[in-house]
Amino acid sequence: MTDVEQPHFWPVLDALPYPVLYKDINSPNIFINLAAKRLFSENKTDISSVVSLDTIKTLTLCYANTHHPYGLFNNPLIQALSGNEIEQHVYLAKQASSYQLHSRLVEFPLSLHQSIVISLQRAELGHIEHDNALYIDEVHEALAFDKLISLISTGFINVQEHQLDIHINDAIAAVGEFCQADRAYMFQFNDELTEMSNTHEWVRQGVTAHKDELQNIPQHALPYFYKTMQETFIFNVSDVSKLPAEAHAEQAEFVREHIQSILCCAIRAGDKLIGFVGCDMIGRTRNWTSNDLRRLKLVGEMIANTLQSVAYRQSLHSMQQQLLLANADLQQQAMQDGLTGIANRRRFDQCLQQELQRSARSNTPLSLVMLDIDRFKLYNDYYGHQTGDDALKTLANCLSEVLKRQGDIAARYGGEEFALILPDSSLEDAMNVSKKIQQLLQEAAIEHKHSDVSKLLTVSIGCCSLIADKNTKASQLIKAADTALYAAKSNGRNRVEVSGEW
Ligand code: GH3
Ligand code: MG
Ligand code: MG
Repeated sequence: MTDVEQPHFWPVLDALPYPVLYKDINSPNIFINLAAKRLFSENKTDISSVVSLDTIKTLTLCYANTHHPYGLFNNPLIQALSGNEIEQHVYLAKQASSYQLHSRLVEFPLSLHQSIVISLQRAELGHIEHDNALYIDEVHEALAFDKLISLISTGFINVQEHQLDIHINDAIAAVGEFCQADRAYMFQFNDELTEMSNTHEWVRQGVTAHKDELQNIPQHALPYFYKTMQETFIFNVSDVSKLPAEAHAEQAEFVREHIQSILCCAIRAGDKLIGFVGCDMIGRTRNWTSNDLRRLKLVGEMIANTLQSVAYRQSLHSMQQQLLLANADLQQQAMQDGLTGIANRRRFDQCLQQELQRSARSNTPLSLVMLDIDRFKLYNDYYGHQTGDDALKTLANCLSEVLKRQGDIAARYGGEEFALILPDSSLEDAMNVSKKIQQLLQEAAIEHKHSDVSKLLTVSIGCCSLIADKNTKASQLIKAADTALYAAKSNGRNRVEVSGEW
């Protein structure tokens, strides 16, 4: 059995002063901690930490009153391991002598989600023969608590908001168990510190829970408590019947809940009071020790840090979302021409490269169309730059309107020159598109009094088309389209020319 892997939290369970049996649902083995080993082996600690279920079955568990053993079928340990209810008191019989644990089996306050942990809890150890090994000293217990809290706080480190409650409940339960309190809890104040609400509560078995009714308690209902908390950050009362007269409202509330001793410790974020953690004793008084206070403070600090880091993470997350959106926006802008809103030269270069590769891969034709406005200098000189800009926008709209196929791109190549990338298009397709653009521009009827070509604004267009191979360069295609455009200019403008060579 030595090759069986122990659970990762094992050091903590081993440090606990009371026996723990641990059964992982995925394995047939039961792990027993050091204290349990001592109990089962009469102080011999060299037995394995892992025992098989069969071995456990040989332990006889008896009814408390009759000492009759449970049948194997009803073995409470086995029942507990399979998730069923078990008797509150058990006797553990070992060979002839029976050891009274006089304790209930409890679920250990760790959220070991897919596992069941059973602790033979806080036995009245004095009643057990061979009890020397189970002697609990305070140092040992403090150590165990610290280890437990450090384990819980590890769970807190990257805690998501929806898991927060599970971890806080674990921490509150740990405080309750270790302080041997009857109830442990956390309260949160509202932002204005005018109200408090019970957010998390742990109660020992048989103790009444009050969380549901302790919501939105106004400051004026418990003025002494609020004042003490705000001034000293601690509320330490070992006997509520001895509270001063000014605490009559608090006293009445404590009596109603049968609280005889209460210890609360503030949860603070920086200087701000955000809540408190506390413990109650029901039906008996208790002098709280410095150890109790230390535990509450530790858990309070841990919860405060976690709440803060969750809040930071949330604001970080929303900031990150805004940045991502802004970034996507910027990326979009980086690819767009500022004046016309169509693709800019950068996007044109990228797309042409991609489409050349695609053409080579799929052996399909790729067409490039270059357009240049005729006599645009004269247009600007006469109508002004602003009107010139409007004309550029109108032409860009004509281009976008003509390009209906997905993958077609219209770009502003620079100045008053534009380009179209037409994947999977023949030279004939490119010419048809070009003529359509000329037609749309005519329909837009932009007056150009000083053009020697027409009374309206016109464009000259050069087209080329090719099926690329892996050696084809974008510059070759651009040069070919440019040559065709130059021919269109030379041959009288306002016309479409094609280029057959590159
Ligand atoms: P051609 O028919 O030979 O093409 O004659 P052109 O006058 O159009 O050619 P040229 O290259 O001499 O002049 C181009 C003009 O385009 C110069 C400039 O005033 C104008 N232009 C370039 N970019 C812009 C712009 O962003 N806005 C405006 N309004 N005008 C621009
Ligand atoms: Mg030009
Ligand atoms: Mg021009």
